[in-house]
Amino acid sequence: MIERPSPNFSKRPPGFDVDLLLFHYTGMESCEAAIERLCDPESKVSAHYVIDEDGTVYSLVPEDATAWHAGVSCWEGKIGMNQRSIGIELVNPGHDHGYRPFPEAQMVAAIELAKGILERHPIPPRQVLAHGDVAPMRRQDPGELFDWKRLADEGIGLWPKKMDVEPIKGAIRDIQVALRTIGYCIPVDGEDTPIYRAMLETFQRHWYPKSVDGKADKGTRTMLAAVSVAVQAAMMAERVAKAD
Ligand SMILES: [Zn+2]
Repeated sequence: MIERPSPNFSKRPPGFDVDLLLFHYTGMESCEAAIERLCDPESKVSAHYVIDEDGTVYSLVPEDATAWHAGVSCWEGKIGMNQRSIGIELVNPGHDHGYRPFPEAQMVAAIELAKGILERHPIPPRQVLAHGDVAPMRRQDPGELFDWKRLADEGIGLWPKKMDVEPIKGAIRDIQVALRTIGYCIPVDGEDTPIYRAMLETFQRHWYPKSVDGKADKGTRTMLAAVSVAVQAAMMAERVAKAD
């Protein structure tokens, strides 16, 4: 781990639990350019960690401080993800500069880093998320090439175990309800709007990367059902654990 302290952070309120882990990509040509930007006081952006494609991990902001990585964001009806989250930036040129697979060394480093973070903070698996999940109108990162299934197999994040579910049937409203159950901040209005399509596409990038098109095909509807069932089961288990 290499220290590259960024001035772009603020204090977390005392006693405030971090309950969310957000993955990003840098969307820039090089690791060094990304770190420079994340450490530039003018940019007013940062992250806790940057992971280069060769697996080198840079620490920019201590975990007990708030890094400025999420921007305008929303999850489960709550806005502003920075204060409650840890942010990891994966070096990748991103969709605008030649999006490419995340190399093995980078994935291994990300898994190791995330495991440590999950040991230090009470982050439920369903709140290990993509930046795109909490800001779908503005962001796509880390995108459909990021292997969320592999992370979940390593105990990081939620992946449905039960796939023998009925696909979400019916109209747009039913799909919106499923997305909202998972945590997406989506209006349930039954309308085929740009927000609806962006939300569906964001869902696909995370859980159904083989068709990232904002269309509710059968596979997407099945995965939506499976993820929303898994999220509801996870929330139930969390409530039981809290009550004990
Ligand atoms: Zn991001």
